[in-house]
Amino acid sequence: MVVEITAKPEERRWQGLSVSEGLVIGRVLRIHRGTKHVYPAHIEVGDVAKEIKRFHDAVEQAKGQLLTIKERAAKRLGQDHAYIFDANLLMLEDRKLSDEIEDYINIKRANAEWAVKVIGDRLLSVYAEIKDDYLRERGSDIEDVIHRVLEALSGERPAYLDSVEEAVIVSEDLLPSAVAELDLGHARAIVTDAGGWTSHTAIIARGLGIPAMVGLEDLCQHARTGDVIIVDSYKGEVVLHPSVATIERCRAEVAQRTSSRPVPAASGTGIVVTSDGLQIRLRANVELPAEFAGVSRYGASGIGLYRSEFLLAQPGVMLSEEKQYRAYAEVAELAGRNGAVVRLFDLGGDKSGDAVIDSERNPALGLRAIRFCLRHETVLRTQVRAIIRAAAKGRLDIVLPMVADVSDVLRAQTIIAEERTKLETEGKDSGPVRVGAMIEVPSAVFTAEKIARVVDFFELGTNDLVQYILAVDRSNDKVADWFRSLHPAVLESISKTLNAAREAAIPAIVCGEMASTPAYAVVLVGLGATDFSMTPSSIPRVTRALSGIDSQDAASIAAECLRCSTADEVEEIVRERFLAQWPQFFTPKTLPLQKSQ
Ligand code: PEP
Ligand code: MG
Repeated sequence: MVVEITAKPEERRWQGLSVSEGLVIGRVLRIHRGTKHVYPAHIEVGDVAKEIKRFHDAVEQAKGQLLTIKERAAKRLGQDHAYIFDANLLMLEDRKLSDEIEDYINIKRANAEWAVKVIGDRLLSVYAEIKDDYLRERGSDIEDVIHRVLEALSGERPAYLDSVEEAVIVSEDLLPSAVAELDLGHARAIVTDAGGWTSHTAIIARGLGIPAMVGLEDLCQHARTGDVIIVDSYKGEVVLHPSVATIERCRAEVAQRTSSRPVPAASGTGIVVTSDGLQIRLRANVELPAEFAGVSRYGASGIGLYRSEFLLAQPGVMLSEEKQYRAYAEVAELAGRNGAVVRLFDLGGDKSGDAVIDSERNPALGLRAIRFCLRHETVLRTQVRAIIRAAAKGRLDIVLPMVADVSDVLRAQTIIAEERTKLETEGKDSGPVRVGAMIEVPSAVFTAEKIARVVDFFELGTNDLVQYILAVDRSNDKVADWFRSLHPAVLESISKTLNAAREAAIPAIVCGEMASTPAYAVVLVGLGATDFSMTPSSIPRVTRALSGIDSQDAASIAAECLRCSTADEVEEIVRERFLAQWPQFFTPKTLPLQKSQ
Protein backbone atom coordinates (compact mmCIF):
# COMPACT_ATOMS: atom_id res chain seq x y z
CA MET A 1 0.00 0.00 0.00
CA VAL A 2 3.06 2.29 -0.12
CA VAL A 3 2.77 5.15 -2.55
CA GLU A 4 5.95 6.87 -3.67
CA ILE A 5 5.57 10.60 -3.26
CA THR A 6 8.94 11.80 -4.49
CA ALA A 7 9.33 10.13 -7.93
CA LYS A 8 9.53 12.74 -10.72
CA PRO A 9 7.40 11.75 -13.71
CA GLU A 10 8.06 12.79 -17.29
CA GLU A 11 6.52 15.89 -18.84
CA ARG A 12 3.44 15.01 -20.94
CA ARG A 13 1.28 17.11 -23.25
CA TRP A 14 -2.39 16.91 -24.28
CA GLN A 15 -4.18 18.90 -26.97
CA GLY A 16 -7.83 19.86 -26.50
CA LEU A 17 -10.52 22.38 -27.26
CA SER A 18 -10.05 25.78 -25.59
CA VAL A 19 -13.37 27.06 -24.26
CA SER A 20 -12.19 29.88 -22.02
CA GLU A 21 -8.96 31.79 -22.60
CA GLY A 22 -5.98 31.95 -20.29
CA LEU A 23 -2.64 30.55 -19.20
CA VAL A 24 -1.96 29.27 -15.68
CA ILE A 25 0.41 27.06 -13.71
CA GLY A 26 -1.21 25.23 -10.83
CA ARG A 27 -1.70 22.01 -8.95
CA VAL A 28 -4.20 19.39 -9.99
CA LEU A 29 -7.35 18.89 -7.93
CA ARG A 30 -8.84 15.74 -9.39
CA ILE A 31 -12.58 15.43 -9.03
CA HIS A 32 -14.34 12.14 -8.99
CA ARG A 33 -17.55 10.83 -7.51
CA GLY A 34 -18.18 12.22 -4.05
CA THR A 35 -15.22 14.59 -4.08
CA LYS A 36 -15.09 16.72 -1.01
CA HIS A 37 -14.45 20.40 -0.92
CA VAL A 38 -10.64 20.27 -0.64
CA TYR A 39 -8.07 22.91 -1.49
CA PRO A 40 -4.38 23.17 -0.68
CA ALA A 41 -3.33 25.58 2.03
CA HIS A 42 0.22 26.36 3.04
CA ILE A 43 0.89 25.95 6.76
CA GLU A 44 3.66 27.36 8.95
CA VAL A 45 6.29 25.01 10.47
CA GLY A 46 4.83 25.71 13.89
CA ASP A 47 1.44 24.37 12.80
CA VAL A 48 2.67 21.05 11.37
CA ALA A 49 2.16 19.12 14.63
CA LYS A 50 -1.37 20.52 15.04
CA GLU A 51 -2.17 19.52 11.48
CA ILE A 52 -0.92 15.97 12.01
CA LYS A 53 -3.03 15.76 15.15
CA ARG A 54 -6.09 16.92 13.18
CA PHE A 55 -5.43 14.11 10.72
CA HIS A 56 -5.20 11.48 13.49
CA ASP A 57 -8.32 12.79 15.21
CA ALA A 58 -10.19 12.55 11.90
CA VAL A 59 -9.00 8.97 11.42
CA GLU A 60 -10.20 8.08 14.94
CA GLN A 61 -13.58 9.67 14.22
CA ALA A 62 -13.88 7.76 10.93
CA LYS A 63 -12.94 4.52 12.72
CA GLY A 64 -15.58 5.14 15.36
CA GLN A 65 -18.22 5.62 12.66
CA LEU A 66 -17.19 2.49 10.83
CA LEU A 67 -17.25 0.39 14.00
CA THR A 68 -20.77 1.59 14.75
CA ILE A 69 -21.88 0.72 11.22
CA LYS A 70 -20.19 -2.68 11.51
CA GLU A 71 -21.97 -3.46 14.79
CA ARG A 72 -25.29 -2.43 13.31
CA ALA A 73 -24.68 -4.61 10.26
CA ALA A 74 -23.72 -7.56 12.48
CA LYS A 75 -27.00 -7.24 14.40
CA ARG A 76 -29.13 -6.91 11.29
CA LEU A 77 -27.37 -9.19 8.85
CA GLY A 78 -25.25 -11.44 11.04
CA GLN A 79 -21.52 -11.53 11.75
CA ASP A 80 -20.74 -13.08 8.35
CA HIS A 81 -21.83 -9.96 6.50
CA ALA A 82 -20.23 -7.46 8.84
CA TYR A 83 -16.70 -8.50 7.85
CA ILE A 84 -16.88 -6.33 4.70
CA PHE A 85 -16.24 -3.28 6.88
CA ASP A 86 -12.99 -4.80 8.13
CA ALA A 87 -11.20 -3.90 4.88
CA ASN A 88 -12.03 -0.23 5.42
CA LEU A 89 -11.06 -0.40 9.08
CA LEU A 90 -7.74 -2.02 8.20
CA MET A 91 -7.05 0.75 5.74
CA LEU A 92 -7.61 3.33 8.46
CA GLU A 93 -5.18 1.45 10.69
CA ASP A 94 -2.52 1.04 8.02
CA ARG A 95 0.65 2.48 9.51
CA LYS A 96 2.42 3.00 6.17
CA LEU A 97 -0.50 4.93 4.76
CA SER A 98 -0.77 7.22 7.74
CA ASP A 99 3.06 7.71 7.73
CA GLU A 100 2.85 8.84 4.14
CA ILE A 101 0.14 11.34 4.93
CA GLU A 102 2.12 12.63 7.91
CA ASP A 103 5.24 12.92 5.73
CA TYR A 104 3.30 14.82 3.12
CA ILE A 105 2.00 17.29 5.73
CA ASN A 106 5.51 17.63 7.11
CA ILE A 107 7.52 17.92 3.92
CA LYS A 108 5.09 19.92 1.82
CA ARG A 109 3.69 21.94 4.76
CA ALA A 110 0.27 21.03 3.49
CA ASN A 111 -3.07 21.01 5.28
CA ALA A 112 -4.33 17.60 6.36
CA GLU A 113 -7.22 17.61 3.86
CA TRP A 114 -4.88 18.16 0.93
CA ALA A 115 -2.43 15.50 2.15
CA VAL A 116 -5.24 12.94 2.51
CA LYS A 117 -6.55 13.82 -0.95
CA VAL A 118 -3.12 13.66 -2.65
CA ILE A 119 -2.04 10.37 -1.07
CA GLY A 120 -5.51 8.87 -1.36
CA ASP A 121 -5.70 9.78 -5.05
CA ARG A 122 -2.34 8.18 -5.74
CA LEU A 123 -3.44 5.01 -4.02
CA LEU A 124 -6.66 5.05 -6.01
CA SER A 125 -4.76 5.33 -9.26
CA VAL A 126 -2.64 2.29 -8.37
CA TYR A 127 -5.84 0.28 -7.91
CA ALA A 128 -7.39 1.66 -11.10
CA GLU A 129 -4.53 0.16 -13.10
CA ILE A 130 -4.80 -3.33 -11.57
CA LYS A 131 -5.91 -5.95 -14.11
CA ASP A 132 -7.79 -8.11 -11.61
CA ASP A 133 -11.48 -7.06 -11.54
CA TYR A 134 -12.01 -7.90 -7.87
CA LEU A 135 -8.99 -5.94 -6.67
CA ARG A 136 -9.72 -3.05 -8.99
CA GLU A 137 -13.17 -2.71 -7.51
CA ARG A 138 -11.62 -2.36 -4.06
CA GLY A 139 -10.88 1.17 -5.26
CA SER A 140 -14.36 2.11 -4.11
CA ASP A 141 -13.38 1.10 -0.54
CA ILE A 142 -10.49 3.52 -0.75
CA GLU A 143 -12.76 6.24 -2.05
CA ASP A 144 -15.11 5.60 0.82
CA VAL A 145 -12.34 5.76 3.41
CA ILE A 146 -10.89 8.97 1.94
CA HIS A 147 -14.34 10.50 1.86
CA ARG A 148 -14.96 9.56 5.48
CA VAL A 149 -11.69 11.06 6.72
CA LEU A 150 -12.26 14.25 4.70
CA GLU A 151 -15.75 14.48 6.10
CA ALA A 152 -14.36 14.22 9.62
CA LEU A 153 -11.73 16.87 8.86
CA SER A 154 -14.30 19.30 7.57
CA GLY A 155 -15.90 19.43 11.03
CA GLU A 156 -13.35 21.80 12.48
CA ARG A 157 -11.29 24.10 10.31
CA PRO A 158 -8.60 26.09 12.12
CA ALA A 159 -8.13 29.78 11.33
CA TYR A 160 -4.58 29.24 10.06
CA LEU A 161 -6.06 27.38 7.06
CA ASP A 162 -8.01 30.33 5.83
CA SER A 163 -5.63 31.36 3.07
CA VAL A 164 -6.27 28.53 0.66
CA GLU A 165 -4.24 28.23 -2.51
CA GLU A 166 -5.81 27.84 -5.89
CA ALA A 167 -6.09 24.60 -7.81
CA VAL A 168 -6.65 23.40 -11.36
CA ILE A 169 -9.80 21.26 -11.44
CA VAL A 170 -9.28 18.09 -13.49
CA SER A 171 -12.28 15.89 -14.15
CA GLU A 172 -13.78 13.51 -16.68
CA ASP A 173 -16.76 15.82 -16.89
CA LEU A 174 -18.14 18.35 -14.42
CA LEU A 175 -21.75 17.99 -13.41
CA PRO A 176 -23.64 20.86 -11.77
CA SER A 177 -23.86 18.82 -8.56
CA ALA A 178 -20.06 18.58 -8.39
CA VAL A 179 -19.68 22.24 -9.30
CA ALA A 180 -22.07 23.28 -6.57
CA GLU A 181 -20.04 21.41 -3.96
CA LEU A 182 -16.72 22.91 -4.99
CA ASP A 183 -15.61 26.36 -4.07
CA LEU A 184 -14.83 27.47 -7.59
CA GLY A 185 -13.85 30.90 -6.30
CA HIS A 186 -10.52 29.14 -5.58
CA ALA A 187 -10.18 27.39 -8.91
CA ARG A 188 -7.48 28.64 -11.23
CA ALA A 189 -8.58 26.68 -14.30
CA ILE A 190 -10.85 23.80 -15.27
CA VAL A 191 -9.95 20.96 -17.65
CA THR A 192 -12.13 17.99 -18.54
CA ASP A 193 -11.80 14.88 -20.66
CA ALA A 194 -15.22 15.36 -22.28
CA GLY A 195 -17.14 18.47 -23.27
CA GLY A 196 -17.70 21.04 -25.98
CA TRP A 197 -18.05 24.83 -26.35
CA THR A 198 -21.52 24.82 -24.76
CA SER A 199 -20.92 22.17 -22.10
CA HIS A 200 -21.46 23.40 -18.56
CA THR A 201 -17.76 23.23 -17.72
CA ALA A 202 -17.18 25.78 -20.47
CA ILE A 203 -20.08 28.01 -19.45
CA ILE A 204 -19.01 28.04 -15.80
CA ALA A 205 -15.35 28.75 -16.58
CA ARG A 206 -16.25 31.67 -18.82
CA GLY A 207 -18.57 32.93 -16.08
CA LEU A 208 -15.73 32.85 -13.57
CA GLY A 209 -13.26 34.29 -16.07
CA ILE A 210 -10.81 31.41 -15.63
CA PRO A 211 -9.17 29.37 -18.41
CA ALA A 212 -10.75 26.10 -19.43
CA MET A 213 -10.13 23.30 -21.89
CA VAL A 214 -12.31 20.31 -22.75
CA GLY A 215 -11.94 17.22 -24.93
CA LEU A 216 -8.66 16.13 -23.30
CA GLU A 217 -9.55 12.46 -23.74
CA ASP A 218 -7.61 10.59 -21.02
CA LEU A 219 -5.92 13.37 -19.06
CA CYS A 220 -7.95 12.66 -15.93
CA GLN A 221 -6.71 9.10 -15.81
CA HIS A 222 -3.08 10.28 -15.69
CA ALA A 223 -3.37 13.36 -13.50
CA ARG A 224 -3.19 13.01 -9.73
CA THR A 225 -4.21 15.53 -7.12
CA GLY A 226 -1.18 17.67 -6.31
CA ASP A 227 0.61 17.21 -9.66
CA VAL A 228 1.95 20.36 -11.28
CA ILE A 229 0.01 21.27 -14.40
CA ILE A 230 0.02 24.05 -17.00
CA VAL A 231 -3.19 24.98 -18.79
CA ASP A 232 -2.55 27.04 -21.90
CA SER A 233 -5.84 27.55 -23.63
CA TYR A 234 -4.31 30.13 -26.00
CA LYS A 235 -2.37 27.25 -27.52
CA GLY A 236 -4.98 24.58 -26.79
CA GLU A 237 -2.51 22.60 -24.68
CA VAL A 238 -2.22 21.08 -21.23
CA VAL A 239 1.18 20.09 -19.83
CA LEU A 240 1.33 17.64 -16.95
CA HIS A 241 4.54 17.40 -14.84
CA PRO A 242 6.14 20.31 -16.77
CA SER A 243 9.93 20.42 -16.71
CA VAL A 244 11.68 23.33 -14.99
CA ALA A 245 12.39 24.87 -18.42
CA THR A 246 8.72 24.64 -19.44
CA ILE A 247 7.64 26.23 -16.16
CA GLU A 248 10.10 29.10 -16.64
CA ARG A 249 8.89 29.73 -20.19
CA CYS A 250 5.30 29.66 -18.99
CA ARG A 251 6.00 32.08 -16.11
CA ALA A 252 7.58 34.56 -18.52
CA GLU A 253 4.57 34.35 -20.81
CA VAL A 254 2.11 34.80 -17.92
CA ALA A 255 4.02 37.91 -16.82
CA GLN A 256 3.99 39.32 -20.33
CA ARG A 257 0.30 38.66 -20.87
CA THR A 258 -0.64 40.12 -17.47
CA SER A 259 1.17 43.38 -18.23
CA SER A 260 -0.51 43.73 -21.65
CA ARG A 261 -4.01 42.72 -20.53
CA PRO A 262 -6.64 45.28 -21.58
CA VAL A 263 -8.48 47.08 -18.81
CA PRO A 264 -12.07 45.75 -18.57
CA ALA A 265 -14.76 48.10 -19.79
CA ALA A 266 -16.38 50.29 -17.17
CA SER A 267 -19.83 49.22 -16.12
CA GLY A 268 -22.60 50.40 -18.42
CA THR A 269 -26.36 50.49 -18.38
CA GLY A 270 -27.00 47.08 -19.91
CA ILE A 271 -28.57 48.78 -22.91
CA VAL A 272 -26.57 49.09 -26.09
CA VAL A 273 -27.70 51.25 -29.01
CA THR A 274 -26.71 50.32 -32.57
CA SER A 275 -25.46 53.02 -34.94
CA ASP A 276 -28.99 53.33 -36.39
CA GLY A 277 -30.58 53.75 -32.96
CA LEU A 278 -31.92 50.24 -32.18
CA GLN A 279 -31.89 49.55 -28.42
CA ILE A 280 -30.65 46.13 -27.31
CA ARG A 281 -30.81 44.84 -23.75
CA LEU A 282 -27.90 42.81 -22.33
CA ARG A 283 -28.67 40.71 -19.26
CA ALA A 284 -26.52 38.26 -17.28
CA ASN A 285 -26.53 34.46 -17.09
CA VAL A 286 -25.45 33.24 -13.64
CA GLU A 287 -25.00 29.90 -11.97
CA LEU A 288 -22.78 30.35 -8.89
CA PRO A 289 -22.33 32.97 -6.17
CA ALA A 290 -18.72 33.37 -7.38
CA GLU A 291 -20.12 34.93 -10.57
CA PHE A 292 -22.52 37.33 -8.85
CA ALA A 293 -20.06 40.22 -8.63
CA GLY A 294 -19.85 40.27 -12.45
CA VAL A 295 -23.50 41.30 -12.77
CA SER A 296 -22.91 44.85 -11.54
CA ARG A 297 -19.24 44.98 -12.56
CA TYR A 298 -20.19 44.61 -16.21
CA GLY A 299 -23.41 46.60 -15.89
CA ALA A 300 -25.86 43.87 -16.87
CA SER A 301 -29.51 44.76 -17.20
CA GLY A 302 -30.59 42.28 -14.53
CA ILE A 303 -30.31 38.50 -14.69
CA GLY A 304 -31.75 36.90 -17.79
CA LEU A 305 -31.05 33.34 -16.74
CA TYR A 306 -30.39 31.90 -13.29
CA ARG A 307 -29.55 28.20 -13.73
CA SER A 308 -31.07 27.07 -10.43
CA GLU A 309 -29.92 23.44 -10.68
CA PHE A 310 -26.46 24.64 -9.63
CA LEU A 311 -27.91 25.04 -6.13
CA LEU A 312 -28.18 21.29 -5.77
CA ALA A 313 -24.86 20.18 -4.39
CA GLN A 314 -25.73 17.03 -2.61
CA PRO A 315 -26.49 14.00 -4.72
CA GLY A 316 -30.07 12.89 -4.34
CA VAL A 317 -30.89 15.62 -1.85
CA MET A 318 -33.28 18.43 -2.69
CA LEU A 319 -32.97 21.78 -0.96
CA SER A 320 -35.67 22.77 1.48
CA GLU A 321 -38.14 25.51 0.55
CA GLU A 322 -36.50 27.81 3.09
CA LYS A 323 -33.00 27.39 1.68
CA GLN A 324 -34.25 27.89 -1.85
CA TYR A 325 -36.23 30.95 -0.76
CA ARG A 326 -33.05 32.53 0.65
CA ALA A 327 -31.10 31.76 -2.54
CA TYR A 328 -33.77 33.25 -4.84
CA ALA A 329 -34.21 36.31 -2.62
CA GLU A 330 -30.44 36.89 -2.91
CA VAL A 331 -30.66 36.60 -6.70
CA ALA A 332 -33.59 39.04 -6.78
CA GLU A 333 -31.66 41.55 -4.73
CA LEU A 334 -28.57 41.14 -6.91
CA ALA A 335 -30.58 41.65 -10.09
CA GLY A 336 -32.04 44.97 -8.93
CA ARG A 337 -34.95 46.70 -10.64
CA ASN A 338 -34.51 44.83 -13.94
CA GLY A 339 -35.21 41.58 -12.15
CA ALA A 340 -34.06 37.99 -12.59
CA VAL A 341 -35.44 35.02 -14.46
CA VAL A 342 -35.15 31.82 -12.43
CA ARG A 343 -35.15 28.71 -14.56
CA LEU A 344 -36.84 25.74 -12.90
CA PHE A 345 -34.40 22.89 -12.20
CA ASP A 346 -33.00 21.78 -15.55
CA LEU A 347 -31.95 18.34 -14.31
CA GLY A 348 -31.23 15.27 -16.37
CA GLY A 349 -29.44 15.12 -19.71
CA ASP A 350 -25.85 16.31 -19.26
CA LYS A 351 -26.82 18.19 -16.11
CA SER A 352 -26.92 15.56 -13.40
CA GLY A 353 -25.38 12.25 -12.71
CA ASP A 354 -27.34 9.24 -11.63
CA ALA A 355 -27.35 10.73 -8.18
CA VAL A 356 -30.40 12.91 -8.66
CA ILE A 357 -32.33 10.86 -11.16
CA ASP A 358 -32.10 7.32 -12.35
CA SER A 359 -29.58 6.77 -15.09
CA GLU A 360 -31.20 6.50 -18.47
CA ARG A 361 -30.25 4.98 -21.77
CA ASN A 362 -30.58 8.24 -23.63
CA PRO A 363 -30.55 11.03 -21.06
CA ALA A 364 -30.60 13.99 -23.48
CA LEU A 365 -33.96 12.67 -24.73
CA GLY A 366 -35.05 11.43 -21.34
CA LEU A 367 -36.62 12.70 -18.15
CA ARG A 368 -34.93 16.08 -18.37
CA ALA A 369 -35.84 19.64 -17.37
CA ILE A 370 -39.63 20.36 -17.32
CA ARG A 371 -40.32 16.63 -17.74
CA PHE A 372 -38.34 15.92 -14.56
CA CYS A 373 -40.18 18.72 -12.73
CA LEU A 374 -43.63 17.50 -13.82
CA ARG A 375 -42.82 13.92 -12.90
CA HIS A 376 -41.45 14.95 -9.48
CA GLU A 377 -44.27 17.25 -8.52
CA THR A 378 -43.18 17.77 -4.92
CA VAL A 379 -39.83 19.05 -6.12
CA LEU A 380 -41.58 21.38 -8.56
CA ARG A 381 -44.09 22.66 -6.00
CA THR A 382 -41.36 23.36 -3.42
CA GLN A 383 -39.30 25.30 -5.94
CA VAL A 384 -42.29 27.28 -7.21
CA ARG A 385 -43.33 28.24 -3.65
CA ALA A 386 -39.80 29.42 -2.86
CA ILE A 387 -39.67 31.56 -6.01
CA ILE A 388 -43.11 33.11 -5.51
CA ARG A 389 -42.23 33.96 -1.90
CA ALA A 390 -38.85 35.41 -2.90
CA ALA A 391 -40.61 37.52 -5.54
CA ALA A 392 -41.95 39.60 -2.63
CA LYS A 393 -38.34 40.74 -2.08
CA GLY A 394 -37.61 41.77 -5.67
CA ARG A 395 -38.62 41.18 -9.26
CA LEU A 396 -38.47 37.50 -10.21
CA ASP A 397 -39.85 35.55 -13.16
CA ILE A 398 -39.93 31.82 -13.87
CA VAL A 399 -38.81 30.16 -17.08
CA LEU A 400 -39.72 26.56 -17.90
CA PRO A 401 -36.79 24.64 -19.39
CA MET A 402 -37.11 22.53 -22.52
CA VAL A 403 -40.84 22.67 -23.05
CA ALA A 404 -41.96 20.50 -25.97
CA ASP A 405 -45.29 22.24 -26.58
CA VAL A 406 -48.23 24.08 -25.01
CA SER A 407 -49.23 21.12 -22.82
CA ASP A 408 -45.99 21.26 -20.78
CA VAL A 409 -46.58 24.97 -20.22
CA LEU A 410 -50.22 24.57 -19.17
CA ARG A 411 -49.44 21.78 -16.70
CA ALA A 412 -46.68 23.85 -15.09
CA GLN A 413 -48.87 26.99 -15.01
CA THR A 414 -51.66 25.11 -13.21
CA ILE A 415 -49.22 24.03 -10.51
CA ILE A 416 -47.79 27.54 -10.21
CA ALA A 417 -51.32 28.99 -9.82
CA GLU A 418 -52.23 26.35 -7.20
CA GLU A 419 -49.13 27.09 -5.14
CA ARG A 420 -49.81 30.82 -5.29
CA THR A 421 -53.35 30.26 -3.98
CA LYS A 422 -52.02 28.03 -1.17
CA LEU A 423 -49.44 30.64 -0.14
CA GLU A 424 -52.15 33.31 -0.04
CA THR A 425 -54.37 31.04 2.08
CA GLU A 426 -51.44 30.46 4.44
CA GLY A 427 -51.00 34.23 4.70
CA LYS A 428 -47.42 34.11 3.38
CA ASP A 429 -45.88 37.04 1.51
CA SER A 430 -45.67 36.56 -2.24
CA GLY A 431 -44.85 38.62 -5.31
CA PRO A 432 -46.00 38.65 -8.93
CA VAL A 433 -44.17 36.20 -11.18
CA ARG A 434 -44.39 36.04 -14.96
CA VAL A 435 -43.95 32.66 -16.63
CA GLY A 436 -41.88 32.11 -19.76
CA ALA A 437 -40.88 29.15 -21.89
CA MET A 438 -37.40 28.13 -23.01
CA ILE A 439 -37.51 27.41 -26.72
CA GLU A 440 -34.76 24.87 -27.29
CA VAL A 441 -36.22 21.80 -28.98
CA PRO A 442 -37.63 21.45 -32.53
CA SER A 443 -41.23 20.77 -31.44
CA ALA A 444 -41.26 24.04 -29.48
CA VAL A 445 -39.94 25.91 -32.52
CA PHE A 446 -42.61 24.41 -34.76
CA THR A 447 -45.36 25.34 -32.29
CA ALA A 448 -43.81 28.64 -31.17
CA GLU A 449 -46.84 30.72 -32.29
CA LYS A 450 -49.09 28.59 -30.08
CA ILE A 451 -46.76 28.64 -27.09
CA ALA A 452 -46.35 32.42 -27.47
CA ARG A 453 -50.10 32.86 -26.85
CA VAL A 454 -49.93 31.22 -23.40
CA VAL A 455 -46.68 32.57 -21.93
CA ASP A 456 -45.36 35.98 -20.88
CA PHE A 457 -42.00 35.67 -22.61
CA PHE A 458 -39.64 33.35 -24.49
CA GLU A 459 -36.05 32.46 -23.77
CA LEU A 460 -34.11 31.06 -26.68
CA GLY A 461 -31.65 28.46 -25.42
CA THR A 462 -29.38 28.23 -28.41
CA ASN A 463 -27.05 25.65 -26.81
CA ASP A 464 -29.77 23.04 -26.71
CA LEU A 465 -31.42 24.35 -29.84
CA VAL A 466 -28.25 23.60 -31.83
CA GLN A 467 -27.91 20.22 -30.09
CA TYR A 468 -31.47 19.12 -30.84
CA ILE A 469 -31.94 20.71 -34.29
CA LEU A 470 -28.68 19.19 -35.56
CA ALA A 471 -28.81 16.02 -33.42
CA VAL A 472 -25.30 16.73 -32.11
CA ASP A 473 -24.48 16.03 -28.45
CA ARG A 474 -23.27 19.36 -27.05
CA SER A 475 -20.86 17.70 -24.60
CA ASN A 476 -19.32 15.15 -26.91
CA ASP A 477 -16.00 16.41 -28.19
CA LYS A 478 -15.99 13.75 -30.92
CA VAL A 479 -18.82 15.50 -32.75
CA ALA A 480 -17.71 19.07 -31.99
CA ASP A 481 -17.14 19.65 -35.73
CA TRP A 482 -20.84 19.05 -36.35
CA PHE A 483 -21.95 21.51 -33.68
CA ARG A 484 -22.52 24.46 -36.02
CA SER A 485 -24.34 27.38 -34.43
CA LEU A 486 -24.61 29.12 -37.81
CA HIS A 487 -26.23 26.17 -39.57
CA PRO A 488 -29.13 27.47 -41.73
CA ALA A 489 -31.54 25.13 -39.91
CA VAL A 490 -30.57 26.75 -36.60
CA LEU A 491 -30.92 30.26 -38.03
CA GLU A 492 -34.32 29.37 -39.50
CA SER A 493 -35.47 28.08 -36.08
CA ILE A 494 -34.28 31.23 -34.34
CA SER A 495 -35.96 33.44 -36.94
CA LYS A 496 -39.24 31.54 -36.64
CA THR A 497 -39.18 31.79 -32.83
CA LEU A 498 -38.39 35.52 -32.83
CA ASN A 499 -41.21 36.15 -35.33
CA ALA A 500 -43.66 34.22 -33.17
CA ALA A 501 -42.67 36.31 -30.12
CA ARG A 502 -42.98 39.55 -32.10
CA GLU A 503 -46.45 38.67 -33.38
CA ALA A 504 -47.62 37.82 -29.87
CA ALA A 505 -45.93 41.01 -28.55
CA ILE A 506 -43.91 39.15 -25.91
CA PRO A 507 -40.17 39.57 -25.20
CA ALA A 508 -37.71 36.93 -26.45
CA ILE A 509 -34.40 36.74 -24.58
CA VAL A 510 -31.60 34.90 -26.40
CA CYS A 511 -29.62 33.25 -23.60
CA GLY A 512 -27.48 30.50 -25.15
CA GLU A 513 -23.75 30.90 -25.73
CA MET A 514 -24.36 32.36 -29.21
CA ALA A 515 -25.39 35.58 -27.46
CA SER A 516 -21.92 35.97 -25.86
CA THR A 517 -20.05 35.70 -29.14
CA PRO A 518 -19.92 39.11 -30.89
CA ALA A 519 -20.16 37.80 -34.49
CA TYR A 520 -23.09 35.53 -33.62
CA ALA A 521 -24.76 38.33 -31.65
CA VAL A 522 -24.69 40.52 -34.78
CA VAL A 523 -26.32 37.74 -36.82
CA LEU A 524 -28.94 37.38 -34.07
CA VAL A 525 -29.69 41.12 -34.26
CA GLY A 526 -30.05 40.66 -38.01
CA LEU A 527 -32.63 37.96 -37.33
CA GLY A 528 -34.57 40.33 -35.10
CA ALA A 529 -33.18 39.72 -31.56
CA THR A 530 -33.09 42.74 -29.25
CA ASP A 531 -32.78 41.06 -25.86
CA PHE A 532 -29.75 38.99 -24.85
CA SER A 533 -28.51 37.23 -21.74
CA MET A 534 -24.90 36.13 -21.42
CA THR A 535 -21.89 35.44 -19.21
CA PRO A 536 -21.34 38.87 -17.57
CA SER A 537 -17.70 39.13 -18.67
CA SER A 538 -18.82 38.95 -22.33
CA ILE A 539 -20.93 42.10 -22.01
CA PRO A 540 -18.10 44.57 -22.86
CA ARG A 541 -17.12 42.84 -26.09
CA VAL A 542 -20.70 42.27 -27.24
CA THR A 543 -21.48 45.93 -26.41
CA ARG A 544 -18.53 47.08 -28.49
CA ALA A 545 -19.58 45.03 -31.53
CA LEU A 546 -23.29 45.84 -31.39
CA SER A 547 -22.78 49.57 -30.83
CA GLY A 548 -20.74 49.72 -34.03
CA ILE A 549 -23.21 48.08 -36.40
CA ASP A 550 -26.24 49.20 -38.33
CA SER A 551 -29.10 46.77 -37.65
CA GLN A 552 -30.36 47.09 -41.23
CA ASP A 553 -26.98 45.90 -42.53
CA ALA A 554 -27.10 43.02 -40.06
CA ALA A 555 -30.62 42.17 -41.28
CA SER A 556 -29.50 42.07 -44.90
CA ILE A 557 -26.59 39.72 -44.02
CA ALA A 558 -28.93 37.52 -41.96
CA ALA A 559 -31.40 37.32 -44.85
CA GLU A 560 -28.57 36.15 -47.11
CA CYS A 561 -27.53 33.53 -44.50
CA LEU A 562 -31.09 32.19 -44.31
CA ARG A 563 -30.96 31.44 -48.05
CA CYS A 564 -27.86 29.21 -47.67
CA SER A 565 -27.95 25.43 -47.68
CA THR A 566 -24.99 24.65 -45.40
CA ALA A 567 -23.16 25.98 -42.33
CA ASP A 568 -20.02 26.41 -44.47
CA GLU A 569 -21.86 28.77 -46.81
CA VAL A 570 -23.24 30.84 -43.92
CA GLU A 571 -19.82 31.10 -42.28
CA GLU A 572 -18.26 32.18 -45.56
CA ILE A 573 -20.82 34.99 -45.90
CA VAL A 574 -20.27 36.07 -42.30
CA ARG A 575 -16.48 36.15 -42.78
CA GLU A 576 -16.62 38.12 -46.03
CA ARG A 577 -19.42 40.55 -45.24
CA PHE A 578 -18.28 41.30 -41.67
CA LEU A 579 -14.69 42.00 -42.73
CA ALA A 580 -15.84 44.22 -45.58
CA GLN A 581 -18.47 46.10 -43.57
CA TRP A 582 -17.00 46.32 -40.06
CA PRO A 583 -13.21 45.87 -40.26
CA GLN A 584 -12.80 48.03 -37.13
CA PHE A 585 -14.81 45.52 -35.03
CA PHE A 586 -13.97 42.13 -36.54
CA THR A 587 -10.73 40.42 -37.47
CA PRO A 588 -10.42 36.94 -39.03
CA LYS A 589 -9.68 35.64 -35.51
CA THR A 590 -13.01 36.86 -34.12
CA LEU A 591 -15.04 35.31 -36.96
CA PRO A 592 -15.87 31.65 -37.62
CA LEU A 593 -12.72 29.87 -38.78
CA GLN A 594 -12.65 28.42 -42.25
CA LYS A 595 -13.06 24.64 -41.91
CA SER A 596 -10.24 22.73 -43.58
CA GLN A 597 -11.57 20.60 -46.43
C1 PEP B 1 -29.31 26.73 -23.65
O1 PEP B 1 -29.63 25.57 -23.83
O2 PEP B 1 -28.95 27.49 -24.59
C2 PEP B 1 -29.34 27.34 -22.31
C3 PEP B 1 -29.27 28.63 -22.14
O3 PEP B 1 -29.42 26.55 -21.23
P1 PEP B 1 -28.33 25.46 -20.80
O4 PEP B 1 -27.04 25.80 -21.51
O5 PEP B 1 -28.20 25.54 -19.33
O6 PEP B 1 -28.93 24.19 -21.27
MG1 MG C 1 -30.74 24.50 -22.37
